[in-house]
Amino acid sequence: MSGGWEPVIGLEIHAQLATRSKIFSGAATAYGAAPNTQACLVDLGYPGVLPVLNAEAVRLAVRFGLAIGASIASRSVFARKNYFYPDLPKGYQISQYELPVVQGGSLRIELDDGSSRTVRLTRAHLEEDAGKSLHENFHGLSGIDLNRAGTPLLEIVSEPDMRSAKEAAAYMRRIHQLVRWIGICDGNMQEGSFRCDANVSVRPAGSTQLGTRTEIKNLNSFRFLERAILFEIDRQIGVLEDGGRIVQETRLYDPDRDQTRSMRSKEEANDYRYFPDPDLLPLEISEALIAEVRATLPELPDARAQRLVAEAGLGAGEATLLTASRELADYFEAVLAAVGPGHARLAATWVNGELAAALNRDALGIEAARVDAQALAGLLARIADQTISGKIAKEVFEAMWAGEGSADQIIDRKGLRQITDSSALEQVIDQVIAANPGQVAEYRAGKDKLFGFFVGQVMKLTAGKGNPAQVNELLRRKLAS
Ligand code: ADP
Ligand code: MG
Repeated sequence: MSGGWEPVIGLEIHAQLATRSKIFSGAATAYGAAPNTQACLVDLGYPGVLPVLNAEAVRLAVRFGLAIGASIASRSVFARKNYFYPDLPKGYQISQYELPVVQGGSLRIELDDGSSRTVRLTRAHLEEDAGKSLHENFHGLSGIDLNRAGTPLLEIVSEPDMRSAKEAAAYMRRIHQLVRWIGICDGNMQEGSFRCDANVSVRPAGSTQLGTRTEIKNLNSFRFLERAILFEIDRQIGVLEDGGRIVQETRLYDPDRDQTRSMRSKEEANDYRYFPDPDLLPLEISEALIAEVRATLPELPDARAQRLVAEAGLGAGEATLLTASRELADYFEAVLAAVGPGHARLAATWVNGELAAALNRDALGIEAARVDAQALAGLLARIADQTISGKIAKEVFEAMWAGEGSADQIIDRKGLRQITDSSALEQVIDQVIAANPGQVAEYRAGKDKLFGFFVGQVMKLTAGKGNPAQVNELLRRKLAS
């Protein structure tokens, strides 16, 4: 970015709500069924049928609102958003317009430099998804699959509070973490359960007025979001610095070319002719329902991270990593419960380190970890009681990951028990000293750096099994005499 311009970004995120049936019909929402097997007459927009609101979708929206500290509208209204498209047989999408169910709220985002800032939310409203046009496998034709038509969505709209592509990605990640954490959306981006439109503008630094924005549609990965925004910021600055002006328009991001291109401008944009849907009563939400939903909310990510810092003495960064998902936090706390509260740092280091690396390498989620919390705790206990060193423990962990048994079984079978018998260690040390008279003389003449060499030799002869603290102490004593 060239100096003097400030980017401004606001996101609209569509989260597919995790209900079993659709928002206005009883048809199933399961992903991947054969085309048009999960679309009933309501989804197909037949004349004479009436939508019936899914109470579970409302509960999930309320759950989200409470989690971000928003106000829940006691009365909100469904509206028809009218447009023509082959995958929208009714000719309108049922959404919420003037009176959305969730209003306001905010979320804290953390940045790479450790600082954090607050992003305000404008609203979150309930709406139905449209169907899908299929272009593959049809020659000169398009197929229409209406399985997705009527799937419940929560559209989450932020204020234009983000100032960089990184902040926008951090915010999208936070929302993704939250919707999965509170169980309202599976967050699966490949299947389209979580997708994002990015509104981007730039303005002269210091200006308080918003510049003209463009909207980049349908970004379905954090990386694409960041890339698309970076490209768009550069493009807009280029246009403005060349004396041009930004046209308010909808753009598409092309990941292959890493650029955005115009899809339609505001002039050609549809006039949606919103009006309240006469088939649906206003949505009324009682205090009792709100209280009921509130009572089922889990401890939220920030609160849980803060508790881990306060109770277990973890660093803030460690706690943030451990609360990336509820499943991971549960895993960590199960390890901690089994290995004992005195070993929180050890547990955190292993979960964020060795375990995370193994999951990453095998592209597995925590729920599919090949070493469960109890088993990992079994390994950490052997580090804590000095049966094995941290280094040998990594070898044991790999064997556990490969399914070779518990930590104790592997330690016994492979003879990995640490040597803590000082007379055995002394024998080895004597051997090393006798074999390296030159180095011993140099060390004694003041070349302290050689100490590491002796430790290395002892470890080599003990196949890494010498207790490191003891080896150090005994070596120092023997070399000094
Ligand atoms: P629409 O529904 O037409 O897309 P909204 O006014 O609801 O328009 O805004 C949608 C999103 O665009 C919001 O997230 C908002 O924060 C963001 N936004 C609005 N104006 C700007 C701007 N000038 N620059 C960047 N983002 C903006
Ligand atoms: Mg929009």
